Amino acid sequence: MTASTFDQIGKVLREHQQFVVLSHVRPDGDALGSQLALGLSLQQLGKDVRIWNEEGMLEKYSFLPRAELLRKPPPTAEHVDVAIALDTAIQNRLGTALTAIGSANIWINIDHHLSNPGYGDLVIIDSSAPATGEILFNLIKSQGLPFDHEIAENLYAAISTDTGSFQYSQTTARTLEIAAELVRNGHLDVGKISQQLYENYPPRRLELLRELLRTMRFIERGRIATFSLSLKTAAELNVIPEDNEGLIDHLRAVRGVIVAVFFEQLSDGKVRVSMRSKDERVDVCAICQKFSGGGHTLAAGARVGGTLAEVEQKVLEETGEAVKRACIS
Ligand code: AMP
Ligand code: MN
Ligand code: MN
Repeated sequence: MTASTFDQIGKVLREHQQFVVLSHVRPDGDALGSQLALGLSLQQLGKDVRIWNEEGMLEKYSFLPRAELLRKPPPTAEHVDVAIALDTAIQNRLGTALTAIGSANIWINIDHHLSNPGYGDLVIIDSSAPATGEILFNLIKSQGLPFDHEIAENLYAAISTDTGSFQYSQTTARTLEIAAELVRNGHLDVGKISQQLYENYPPRRLELLRELLRTMRFIERGRIATFSLSLKTAAELNVIPEDNEGLIDHLRAVRGVIVAVFFEQLSDGKVRVSMRSKDERVDVCAICQKFSGGGHTLAAGARVGGTLAEVEQKVLEETGEAVKRACIS
């Protein structure tokens, strides 16, 4: 893989006409905000742009400016000129948005996941960036691409969500400067965006948290905290997948906890594993890669075949070993 420059990517964006902008399954704020921001900038450049995600727009992010542009991919495969994957560590995490692309002349891969192998023709992976939105801000600015308040709000939402509201260790002075520039030049109302992002959940999300806390366990002398969600509980509570995004943070927030692990039983016989670490010495990306997943050092995930109990056992054993190896007392 050869890393591409912003100039090389800017040239392709200017010289081609037809684009599809994609991101990963079970999208988060960075995935959806990044897709809309780049899609809107290309649209204003006069390009034909489609913006696809396997799940379409999520209810909770439907306040994002021009959210209606984000669609589910078509059922039959299409040829596209330029396909752009954003925030997607492994190409097959594009899900049905990948299978909807029969062929593409050029693949662009822009991401901040350490585990991204660099698929595609033009690749920018900056694992020091806390969000794909931050890389896109730099791309847009360096290439003089269209920028307005709608793009600013989408980028702000992308960066705010992936930094845990500017809390995580990858948040740098540059991140805060970018946020300031987005707020200033995009005329953003931070209070309003934050309320839409963090204080507008349906009550069932809290009901879900109550059930998750009933399954909560602390192991390895309180250094690992875990809870899990069975299909049965999910059905009883009528929750939808997006409801659990971020609930793992309650485990991470506990004193003494180094690694938080959330298990969610899926209907395809697999279990979605979500991990967070509070200490660089415990690399949860490395743990998840043992289970064919990936992510970042401090936030990673995987999908593992087996029952909830089997997957819990296997993954917690590996996690316990990693914590012990890191010699954290
Ligand atoms: P999550 O716990 O789902 O919020 O994911 C944490 C981080 O790990 C995100 O940056 C994801 O993109 C990444 N990630 C989650 N699941 C997987 C997976 N199955 N394969 C690769 N990366 C993943
Ligand atoms: Mn993401
Ligand atoms: Mn991201």
